[in-house]
Amino acid sequence: MTLDPSLFGADAARLRSTRLAQGVATLVVDATGLGEAERSALEARLKATAMSVEGVAEVRVAMTASKAAGPKLIAVGAGKGGVGKSTVSVNLAVALARLGHKVGIIDADIYGPSQPTLLGTSERPEARDKQLIPVEVQGVKMLSVGQLVSPGHALAWRGPMASGALAQLVEGDWSGTDIIIVDLPPGTGDVQLSLIQKSRPVGAVVVSTPQDLSLIDARRAIDLFGKTSVPVLGIIENMAGYQCPHCGESSDPFGSGGAEAAAAEMGVPFLGRLPLSASLRADSDAGRPPAGGEGPAAAAFRTLAEAVLAQLP
Ligand code: ADP
Repeated sequence: MTLDPSLFGADAARLRSTRLAQGVATLVVDATGLGEAERSALEARLKATAMSVEGVAEVRVAMTASKAAGPKLIAVGAGKGGVGKSTVSVNLAVALARLGHKVGIIDADIYGPSQPTLLGTSERPEARDKQLIPVEVQGVKMLSVGQLVSPGHALAWRGPMASGALAQLVEGDWSGTDIIIVDLPPGTGDVQLSLIQKSRPVGAVVVSTPQDLSLIDARRAIDLFGKTSVPVLGIIENMAGYQCPHCGESSDPFGSGGAEAAAAEMGVPFLGRLPLSASLRADSDAGRPPAGGEGPAAAAFRTLAEAVLAQLP
């Protein structure tokens, strides 16, 4: 269901889409050219109007803006760790670079920064005028929280310290890039919230395995993006199905189709699935993102990257 644009008076000109499902109204709004105060005022007016519509219990406003310059940030999140968020992030970055984009990747996973390993580099970034210069590896520019601490040091940062370190990564010298993938810390707490507010991604990708527990967390992640007005570009289902390399039989260790069903239920796009693959894990551990190779995994990541691009506002 959609809402009648005429309800919003002059603000209707900025409405790009409306949707009403299960009491939640989602408004996508073009905020191009508006300052912070005007955006807030616009959001408040839209929310008040939508709330007055019968059957609306909650209103989410997603602000988009066409920026003349500057890279587009795409956040990659997951409600919990271990679902393959970092693996998907780096391979999306490499696949986007192969599609001709100038790509950066910010590894903001304070609990387990893995991009230096996934990209096979131990190079430290230099700083110029206190601004970090990303390292360039495998066709992408990268800054990782793992480059700011010695390897193997568990990060026991408290919220404000973590947020400060992450801000340094976001404010690095990203000139020359047009897309930046942000590998978020897993979970939906204050650190994630402040990073999203600070980096203002144009959209978010949520990674989940097909199983129920992981999907409950994915729903939380989608809620977090809703609350921070970041449009969800879609869900990627990872570790979906396993083909035995010996007998060729397919099985579904983590269930099957769960993420696609959940995406449909939540009204967000389903971007595709990646199978559980021993070679994908081995290549990842060896610092060779499969998206940079030639096999079926490279084709799968290319398709996913195209699906993400198709959803960009
Ligand atoms: P997260 O960032 O969500 O914590 P990672 O990307 O670090 O997860 O992945 C966790 C582990 O699972 C890594 O060892 C990674 O190589 C492995 N992995 C991720 N996706 C797959 C997959 N599709 N098939 C096999 N192994 C995978």
